[in-house]
Amino acid sequence: MRTDSPLKLPGSIAIRNGRVVDAATGFDGSADLLLENGLISAVGDVPPDRSDAEIDATGLVVTPGLIDMHVHLRQPGFDAKETIESGTAAAAAGGFTTICCMPNTRPTLDSQESLELLHERIEREAIVHVLPIAAISVGRLGVKAVDYGQVVAAGAIGFSDDGDSCDDPGIMIAALEASKELDRPVMVHCEDKALMGGSMHEGDVSARLGLKGLPALAEERFLERDIELAARTGGWLYALHVSTGTGIEMIRQAKASGVHITAEAMPHHLTMTDEWVAGDRRLVNVDEPVGPAGLPADPNTKVNPPLRPLRDTELLLAAIEDRTFDIVATDHAPHAASDKIAGQFETAAFGLSGLEFGLPLMLALVRAGRIDYLDLVRLMSLNPAQVLGSERGRLAAGAPADITIFDPNDEWIVDAERLRTKSVNTPLIGMPLKGRARYTIVDGELRFAA
Ligand SMILES: [Zn+2]
Repeated sequence: MRTDSPLKLPGSIAIRNGRVVDAATGFDGSADLLLENGLISAVGDVPPDRSDAEIDATGLVVTPGLIDMHVHLRQPGFDAKETIESGTAAAAAGGFTTICCMPNTRPTLDSQESLELLHERIEREAIVHVLPIAAISVGRLGVKAVDYGQVVAAGAIGFSDDGDSCDDPGIMIAALEASKELDRPVMVHCEDKALMGGSMHEGDVSARLGLKGLPALAEERFLERDIELAARTGGWLYALHVSTGTGIEMIRQAKASGVHITAEAMPHHLTMTDEWVAGDRRLVNVDEPVGPAGLPADPNTKVNPPLRPLRDTELLLAAIEDRTFDIVATDHAPHAASDKIAGQFETAAFGLSGLEFGLPLMLALVRAGRIDYLDLVRLMSLNPAQVLGSERGRLAAGAPADITIFDPNDEWIVDAERLRTKSVNTPLIGMPLKGRARYTIVDGELRFAA
């Protein structure tokens, strides 16, 4: 990570009068924080004149830095979509102090060499922590297993062929065996290629629009296989972007029977339905103003796994509430405008821009009373830190000073011109949202201020 701060606020920082939320201790109340030498040095009362700089957090919420476990940074290989520089700027603006980047780059992140090259770039350009995920199979081709020990030694925090499932059960078993030894998760994108070929959820809406659908079964069949392999090997399975009610029920049961599984949900699967593909712009499960209706088959509603029917969103949210889900991440998947041409839904790339919308969408669930701030911090900071084996994700004296300060009441309209990401592939453009980051602090340095 770059060590020169783009926003100069050197030395120690006192954060005063904020509502401080720390899921590690269950604390949600008024407190001050003192940051010194890149660490949190005090939580509670901070005497006056103790710091070089002050942030008045009156009316704001102060949390451990948010951690996004699922980001596509596109570098190396696809610089037109996103770069480490633009992607980490979007992360900081979205309140994230750490992001984990997926290996579906060119070249694939599947070797010590590819990870070392990426690290050099991260050192030069990133303004938040970037932790890479290595592939499960070499080139993500599903033919040969990656050398898992080697890529972990080179800094990989997990293994994933995300964008594809790894069809070869032998490679999956090798990865799950390695996950035990290396204590790193196998992060699975579940999708049966034999059932693919569609462009949105297969159901009433796809039939109405005349679009070929992606059946829920395509996700659930491979999730079932991967749960079984995790059960048999005792390995650590991390289920990426679980999007169906049946899928999360399978995980609930697997967890109850002792399978080591971490479950990840996306804000868009909790708050948007397949009706968005038909042009609807109502966020579901929340009590929020409605955006202007969109055009049917807007490529910016095309994502994989697809937006699902209302019933699935409700079952996913119930699994957030009963803690079957461990993590909320964005699956930030930037694509250039040429990958998302209006009128060409079926050939458009899958994926939504996410880093700058994850926090506002989760805050809508807080306002609706579906989760509270402690849940939000647990799902977006504490639990991700635990997966990473990191001391971040908490506000204890001595912990790294990664802090997110957000204004839960800031009302804003999503404006493509003002986003930090290079790719504005989201159906939220033009919509009103409420709440966003005001200050993002990484290792005691201010990296974003609004
Ligand atoms: Zn995926």
